[in-house]
Amino acid sequence: MYLIEIYKSVQGESSFAGRPCIFVRLAGCNLRCTWCDSEYTFKGGHKLSEDEVVAEIEKLAPGKLIEFTGGEPLLQERELVPLMQRLLADGYELMIETSGERPLDHVPAAVHKIVDVKCPASGEGGSFRMSNLEFLGKGDEVKFVIANRNDYEFAREFIRQHALEARAGDVLLSPAFQKMPSIARSTENCVLDPRELVEWMLADGLDARLSLQIHKFVWEPQKKGV
Ligand code: SF4
Repeated sequence: MYLIEIYKSVQGESSFAGRPCIFVRLAGCNLRCTWCDSEYTFKGGHKLSEDEVVAEIEKLAPGKLIEFTGGEPLLQERELVPLMQRLLADGYELMIETSGERPLDHVPAAVHKIVDVKCPASGEGGSFRMSNLEFLGKGDEVKFVIANRNDYEFAREFIRQHALEARAGDVLLSPAFQKMPSIARSTENCVLDPRELVEWMLADGLDARLSLQIHKFVWEPQKKGV
């Protein structure tokens, strides 16, 4: 399995935000979102066996919540799924962040899936694999990163058309973050002002959760490995 980094921090997005979490960041992605903040994962990575990954996780103990992220972690599904099964058996609580393009059918049901639906301004609109809707449950969350009003309207219609709030535990709307943020821990680094997004949600009575990337407010936005 090719990894970029394993580290401990607080979970930054989703309904798990604020909880201490061990992050396992896998290398490689097959998408190229315009606002991607993880381009350093696209190439390289170091190869670790399943035993070596587990040993690295154990070094970061105590910690029972683990998130697999990337890049796109499901590009390494063949190695990742057995690792997940082993960690679940060891009593860990697992999350995975995925672009929504890769199939979810082999991800163990007990893993909390945070699944993106890419909006038009990402440049990867239309990449969501519609059959993945069938694999969402109440332990899972669907996330839209919103850069402008057009993205918001796309998300709103997708949520309504597919009754996402009934399929998943949460629906997240997250303002896109600047690719070149200042060092200020400020909403000025958001492409879309969160206040504007909230006003749209309230005006439409949208049953979704505003999601801010809180690690970019706890630490300087460009800091890696946090
Ligand atoms: S799917 Fe994630 S890692 Fe891949 S390009 Fe988009 S934001 Fe970056």
